Amino acid sequence: MKVAILTIGNELTSGRTQDTNTSFIARTCHLRNWPVTATLSVGDDEEAIKRALSYAMAGADAVIVTGGLGPTADDITTAAIARAFNLSLHTDETVLAKMKEIFARFHLPWTENNAKQALFPEGATVITNPTGTAPGFALKRDSRMIVVIPGVPREINRMLPEGVIPLLQRTFPEKAAHVITRTIKTFGLSEAAVDEKVADIDFAGAGIGIGFYPNFPENHIVLTARDETESAALEKLDRVTAEVLQRLPRHQIFAYDEDTLAGIIARALTEKGLTLAVAESCTGGLITDRITDVPGSSIYLERGFVTYSDRSKTELLGVPEQIIRTHGAVSEETARLMAEGARAKSGTNLGLATTGIAGPGGGSENKPVGTVYIALADGEHTMCRHYAFRWDRRRNKIIATQAALMMLKAYLAGEETNG
Ligand code: ATP
Ligand code: MG
Repeated sequence: MKVAILTIGNELTSGRTQDTNTSFIARTCHLRNWPVTATLSVGDDEEAIKRALSYAMAGADAVIVTGGLGPTADDITTAAIARAFNLSLHTDETVLAKMKEIFARFHLPWTENNAKQALFPEGATVITNPTGTAPGFALKRDSRMIVVIPGVPREINRMLPEGVIPLLQRTFPEKAAHVITRTIKTFGLSEAAVDEKVADIDFAGAGIGIGFYPNFPENHIVLTARDETESAALEKLDRVTAEVLQRLPRHQIFAYDEDTLAGIIARALTEKGLTLAVAESCTGGLITDRITDVPGSSIYLERGFVTYSDRSKTELLGVPEQIIRTHGAVSEETARLMAEGARAKSGTNLGLATTGIAGPGGGSENKPVGTVYIALADGEHTMCRHYAFRWDRRRNKIIATQAALMMLKAYLAGEETNG
């Protein structure tokens, strides 16, 4: 089934809002092997909506439209689409009653313009909106289907998988109905590197789709298998996944599917009963932020120090002034003592520390911008790694955070060698 995507809203054509709906819908279609023939954006303008709709319909079986379903006068999508097909509008009494009930429940004053959101073109099928007031609708025209949903990303996050996709599957049934995906999450592997390594695998022959999704600083490889039965799709997916994994460096793969780096670290620390303290200089608290993203992190995270100044490294972590003066705040010696100090001062099993030059200033010939030292102390050994990142300030901080978490993850998995 071919799909076209049409997003509507003046906020999009003026550049005030980034069109994340298009990428979300396009990714979803791509994973199902539904080719997207066009992605279009127009303002809240009837003529523009009609023109775009006719272009979109010329090349696709289904057109997914977002935006302009709200109660205000500038939201004209429903009326424009009805007029494009010469359809009258009618009020759906069930939708109207439900909307009034929601307003009453949340003690919101009802205004008549809200009734607009219960207006649908004749013959439309209503698509419920579990997290907002404006429902969507679908219209069948000859062999084509037009699906219209609100513009609010949070609302379509649920409406797309729960309402739209099942409706399209029912409307355009396919033989190979079972689609299974697997996400391989990597760090430090570029798209070009992955491409080259897996070039000899015959994905098309095996009936597998492969996609590459950069999600800075991570790169996700998504494999999609489709077959007539779920077990056949799964068998195929497992076989090709194994082939892909064989070709990729093991230490650069850290998670699959819904797993996250911080989540895996959380599981390992909890299982081993280990506690952690973090001392951050160039990462400015980002490591502690990632770790505390996981619910229940208080079990293993004792504390995080943001020791940005030399004085704080000495006062809070006990790094001798002499060391900082001799080797510099950004040095292997300082990083090691920061990790050991964080651990000792906090009474934890592990201490993790970063120190580096995020840029754009502060670099030198010996220690250019992007120089980062990351150390991990466990009381017996302290390991330290040197990195040379080459991004801007913000991304250097993010990538250093990821590298520190990768080091911790590898240590917990028994993969990190002492150095
Ligand atoms: P509502 O019932 O909430 O008014 P709506 O269908 O009228 O929904 P819009 O008014 O067009 O939707 O947009 C609602 C919000 O969603 C706005 O904050 C808008 O910036 C955002 N939004 C709209 N379209 C997109 C898009 N394509 N990508 C990302 N955000 C969007
Ligand atoms: Mg709008």
